[in-house]
Amino acid sequence: MEFKTVRGVEDVIPPKSEKFEKIAETFKEKVKVYGFKEVILPVFEEAGLFLRSVGETTDIVQKEMYVFEDRGGRKIALRPEGTASAVRAYIQHGIYVKEPFTKWFYIGPMFRYERPQAGRNRQFFQAGCEVFGLSSPGADAEVILLASEILKALDVKFTLEINSIGCERCRPNYRRALIEYLSSKKESLCKDCQSRLERNPLRVLDCKNESCREVVREVPLITDYLCNECREHFERLKVLLKELDVPFVHNPFIVRGLDYYTKTVFEFKSENLGAQSTVLAGGRYDNLIKELGGGDVPALGFAMGIDRIMLLLPDEEKERKGLFVVTGGEKAYLEGLKLVKTLRDKGFYAEIDHRQGSFKSQFKLANKLNVKYVVIIGDEELEGGFYSLKCFETGKQERIESVAELLARL
Ligand SMILES: [Zn+2]
Ligand SMILES: [Zn+2]
Repeated sequence: MEFKTVRGVEDVIPPKSEKFEKIAETFKEKVKVYGFKEVILPVFEEAGLFLRSVGETTDIVQKEMYVFEDRGGRKIALRPEGTASAVRAYIQHGIYVKEPFTKWFYIGPMFRYERPQAGRNRQFFQAGCEVFGLSSPGADAEVILLASEILKALDVKFTLEINSIGCERCRPNYRRALIEYLSSKKESLCKDCQSRLERNPLRVLDCKNESCREVVREVPLITDYLCNECREHFERLKVLLKELDVPFVHNPFIVRGLDYYTKTVFEFKSENLGAQSTVLAGGRYDNLIKELGGGDVPALGFAMGIDRIMLLLPDEEKERKGLFVVTGGEKAYLEGLKLVKTLRDKGFYAEIDHRQGSFKSQFKLANKLNVKYVVIIGDEELEGGFYSLKCFETGKQERIESVAELLARL
């Protein structure tokens, strides 16, 4: 065949698309009762938006972003994540002067040029939430609670890890201490980390390289460098999570790969994917809106990886559903068409064989479609003015006098 999907891109076809739908529906159901409203944002933006928000020195921007020039000579990027666009829209539409606080959610494809592997595609899907305008730790607790409720509703087993990475006041001190320590061990760091050392030393903390991990074991911890405000925020968050019965562990090495985070960061990890892997992550980003030209508005959010969660969901036993109308002859076919229309109007899944094949072939098809019932319209039924209803599970056949009776039986 001449054309296939591009490397790292996947078609989501049935039955896998049913898992996608289940995840999206469960997510929407949960976020709506927490007061979130949907935003539908563009999949491409000016590349500069991501340089300014995600950060010029991050792997995402330096190595993974799809960037191209459009026909008008603009530098465009396919969005590598959702928060930057949400913040851009929030500022552009002046929401921060209209609403005391704002809760938005989105679902859609993101794009990163990464090495493809199970659950990691170059086009991948995220469902995310953003809260704008709330600085109190209660908002952090609520967002983390919501995330855990979504994963629970999807039956995903997880552990929650939280950390605080401080603010623009306390992080520079930590950064200095970190650079100082890492510089003393420079020869033990991998090449990536050696070059990260000055630009983005926090990233060394979650390097997967064995010898880097060895170095990190003795590293100074951010939690020892937090200013009073950040420490109090983190302590209060822990208290609230305990009150809300959300189990967590404090992992001082979580830093997240994006520059915009402040104070709280968190990751939900699942064991089921062989190696431990993050299925949902987020944090607070109190300076991003100001940095992108909006007001001084605190914010936080998370994004959930739909592709990875699809791998975690079990294949469901297919339940028999709906009804197939088996017809014999032209008159019965026309009768059947009308019956199928009536049933569909009432919201029932109904199917008919337009090829008007033999009874036997229609029954075979009905079985293949996994329907629960078959309605038979043959000569006998036409003459007597009734339907025969057969249940696939019990094999029982009964006489039904009218559409109303049929609807009642279903
Ligand atoms: Zn601080
Ligand atoms: Zn490294």
